[in-house]
Amino acid sequence: MAKDHLPNEVGTSLVGSYSEDCFTAFVLDIAPLPADSKSSPVSFLRGVRGMKEFFEHLTKRFRKRRFYIGEWHSHPFSKPDSSDMDRSTHLRIAQDRATECAEVIMIVFGGDFEQHRHLQVSVHSRERDLVLLNPAD
Ligand SMILES: [Zn+2]
Repeated sequence: MAKDHLPNEVGTSLVGSYSEDCFTAFVLDIAPLPADSKSSPVSFLRGVRGMKEFFEHLTKRFRKRRFYIGEWHSHPFSKPDSSDMDRSTHLRIAQDRATECAEVIMIVFGGDFEQHRHLQVSVHSRERDLVLLNPAD
């Protein structure tokens, strides 16, 4: 999907589940790209159209075992380092009690999406602020 949208950024919500002790999150799928998303080579604003229905349907289909767990987006021909804007946006999602996701996973996908593919994975936590994780390459 990142390659298909070059030279623009793109991204969607992450769908997943948690281990019983809630310390491990499993990224299992991605939500569809909302039609009202806006992107450029250096910015991305994920839209919201259809998302409420998508997650309501997911809750029913998987009997409350799959959830919204975060967001991913691309940084075309660039490093996967999150920007200040990326961080503040994801922290706002974690703090938004309507979203019911106190630990928001952020995956930033950088490079050319062919030979060069780099990930930065972090968690934005309502309680613990930013937690950077080291992904396995
Ligand atoms: Zn970004």
